[in-house]
Amino acid sequence: MTRRLLITAGPTHEPLDPVRYIANRSSGRMGFELAVAGLAAGWEVTLLLGPTPAVPPTGLTVHRYESTADLQRLLAEHFPHCDVLIMAAAVADYRPRRVIAEKLPRVADQLVIELERTPDLVAGCVAGKRSGQRIIGFALEEPAMLEQRAAEKLRRKGLDAIVANPLETMGAEEIRAQIMTADGRVLRPPGAAHGTTKAAFAQWLIAWLDG
Ligand code: C5P
Repeated sequence: MTRRLLITAGPTHEPLDPVRYIANRSSGRMGFELAVAGLAAGWEVTLLLGPTPAVPPTGLTVHRYESTADLQRLLAEHFPHCDVLIMAAAVADYRPRRVIAEKLPRVADQLVIELERTPDLVAGCVAGKRSGQRIIGFALEEPAMLEQRAAEKLRRKGLDAIVANPLETMGAEEIRAQIMTADGRVLRPPGAAHGTTKAAFAQWLIAWLDG
């Protein structure tokens, strides 16, 4: 039976006016590597891909998003059909409260932009999860606080597992991460102390999914 893997990857762009947005440094590379590893292991892969110039791998279904609102709509459509969701997207925590219809003029000396908290998309998926579905999140934190904050997010969001990785992973080639599971296990890939390539980490994570 085909197993279906849904992966989100990349940053979000939160519009401010017709030409400006608030974004982050996510490259989407970790999600790409997970998609490649998933395909190689025989999963049917759907990738929800944010605004990144990187070209997605072939052999999978790709849907593009820009903002958190776009990604929320795509998740509502695709999450019910997957067996596993890996939420690697770097979703914005805050977005402009309103999108200004016309390009902001450069007039005022100071400008205050009001931000509102975005909905927690992965927590929303957890709330609508059917039995047998698994949801894995990512936590990107200061190294000193990594384990504690990742464990707290795992619990608060109701995830099956979380990939805890230090802040410097964002946009980098390598990853130094571990998986923390809802039943309290901490799993590290071989060579984790020195960091592994994102490709090697992805293969290890997908093998763990299959195990
Ligand atoms: O709270 P934090 O952003 O650190 O949580 C990280 C995890 O939550 C990631 O898996 C990310 O994709 C997800 N997330 C989300 N919706 C948000 C913020 C984060 O699904 N608004």
